[in-house]
Amino acid sequence: DDSRLLGAADIRRLAERLDIRPTKQLGQNFVIDPNTVRRIVRTARVQPGEHIVEIGPGLGSLTLGLLEAGATVTAVEIDPKLAGELAKTVHGYQPEADGRFRVVNQDALRLQELPGEAGPPVALVANLPYNISVPVLLHFLELFPQLERVLVMVQAEVADRLAAAPGSRIYGVPSVKAAWYADVKRVGAVGRHVFWPAPKVDSGLVSFTCRTAPITSASRLEVFAAIDAAFAQRRKTLRSALSSWAGSAQLAEDCLREAGIDHRLRGEAIDVHDFARIAEAKQRVAA
Ligand code: SAM
Repeated sequence: DDSRLLGAADIRRLAERLDIRPTKQLGQNFVIDPNTVRRIVRTARVQPGEHIVEIGPGLGSLTLGLLEAGATVTAVEIDPKLAGELAKTVHGYQPEADGRFRVVNQDALRLQELPGEAGPPVALVANLPYNISVPVLLHFLELFPQLERVLVMVQAEVADRLAAAPGSRIYGVPSVKAAWYADVKRVGAVGRHVFWPAPKVDSGLVSFTCRTAPITSASRLEVFAAIDAAFAQRRKTLRSALSSWAGSAQLAEDCLREAGIDHRLRGEAIDVHDFARIAEAKQRVAA
């Protein structure tokens, strides 16, 4: 029954009534296709009663899909006009879901906690604003350690990057940092025409199965600093790229030997576990 979700005509009517002019700056592309919404909700394996956090609910296309599946939803929207209208949209399309829905009018990048009694979210499901998709994703993974899984729609190229493995041309900082938190897979493609306005690129769905235990006792900031250093100078060997991170080229070489990694490799050849071992080795080398 599509009357519980937003189709193209509903989006047009809502946008007109609210006098919304979607901005590129905020990545405002709204899903106008109920089939795509149901596919995202199905792929995310949303269960009744689960608390889901959504970034950028917009006019409510995906929010209504999550509520239809029986979830409790906390949605974080930066645009006050959109945030202000959401409760009315939920009430209009799925009045029985009123008590399971809450909206926070805030910049998701600056969010520090969620209000309310729903407890920590078990999943993040979102059609992310494309210009901030990676930073906002990493922020939420860090902010909510209780997350079990994440299903996000991002631009196709970013989907590939997030799920890339060592050795691949597009493997980089987003791939390694995402792998710090989760097992990451690209799970689908979505065409640009399910959006209004249609963006210039196609999209992809990315699924994260979050780790239940940290991969190392070394600090995340230390590991992330090593990742940033290794990829800041992609063409350099690890020995050279990690020299200021370690203190000197010799110390970098010591850390790499201690971690069992060839210092002539480049960052693009090693995975998050290798970076974790390098950071562990730094503690020992420094001691
Ligand atoms: N979820 C809706 C859908 O599927 O139709 C809208 C998705 S649209 C790609 C991204 C949404 O994120 C927009 O509503 C935009 O206003 C919002 N947004 C952009 N930057 C944001 C930020 N920093 N924090 C929270 N929301 C943001």
